[in-house]
Amino acid sequence: MKFNSISSFIAAIGLLLGVQTYAANTLELHGALSVKGNQIVDASGKPTSFAGPSLFWSNTGWGADRYYNAEVVESVVKNWNATIIRAAIGADKNGGYLADPEGNFKKVTTVVDAAIAQGIYVIVDWHSHDAEKHPEAALEFFTRVATKYGDKPNVIYEIYNEPLNNTDWATQIKPYAEKLVAKIRSIDPDNLIIVGTQTWSQDVDKAAEDPIKNVSNLAYTLHFYAGTHKQDLRDKAKKALDKGIALMVTEWGTVNANGDGAVDKEETQRWLDFMREHNLSHCNWALNDKKEGASHLINGTKPDGNWTDKDFTESGLYVKNVIQNWNQAKLQ
Ligand code: MG
Repeated sequence: MKFNSISSFIAAIGLLLGVQTYAANTLELHGALSVKGNQIVDASGKPTSFAGPSLFWSNTGWGADRYYNAEVVESVVKNWNATIIRAAIGADKNGGYLADPEGNFKKVTTVVDAAIAQGIYVIVDWHSHDAEKHPEAALEFFTRVATKYGDKPNVIYEIYNEPLNNTDWATQIKPYAEKLVAKIRSIDPDNLIIVGTQTWSQDVDKAAEDPIKNVSNLAYTLHFYAGTHKQDLRDKAKKALDKGIALMVTEWGTVNANGDGAVDKEETQRWLDFMREHNLSHCNWALNDKKEGASHLINGTKPDGNWTDKDFTESGLYVKNVIQNWNQAKLQ
């Protein structure tokens, strides 16, 4: 048995002695993450797989940003056993970072500070479908994030949520990503950077054929919605892994790709098996109360984290259970 920190060692001694002692949190158990081959590994070199929710678009005035608070982060750690959370910081639509930089940056700091306090990982996602059209805004945003949090191993940079299908990996997405990666690495030498891929982050095979070279701790984004995306997307992901790139499922849904529809339990189970087999970390869309299938909470649910099962939608209950069991299984 190896210990990644003094506190996890103390917790183990406590267990041996039958004494209730301080329980090590996720960060104390795993430490700084890095990329080794096609795997994301922890400080002891073991492949990792973390599970948690993704918050909805942070855009000011959309309503979902009321869930960007410390009580919600604490609740998903304590009650869902979440080990990771994603802050989906709206970039270029109404109320996004371009329109309201300070309002949206406050949502970054609120969620990241809460994740650090809870000892979990946190993805700071530039939630855009057009990021290559205004790279200067993303450069400024991630300069702020890396300057403030680059020394915190909790933080993961996701530089482009979902490039569209009519963009191009080689001539648009990759050059954008190389600019962002160079800027972040000039400030923070080591935290994970996750690079979005063409076609709403599905064409991971294109990134694997033509990866970004000579940058440490880089992984690529795979997104799926179980009601729409099936074996052919898993085949594509397997091909990318076999080519040697690491993947993270920074967003996935139990429903259709438009965020609505019923929970597809059979296909979701196939995806969960796939993610378990390949040690993929994942965040489920979305911790919000919008009236659509993907939302975890019933419309009108208070953003205080003090929820009972009655407050959850069908997808929310299902996903809460997945996350609880995912991480418990990992800890055993
Ligand atoms: Mg760092």
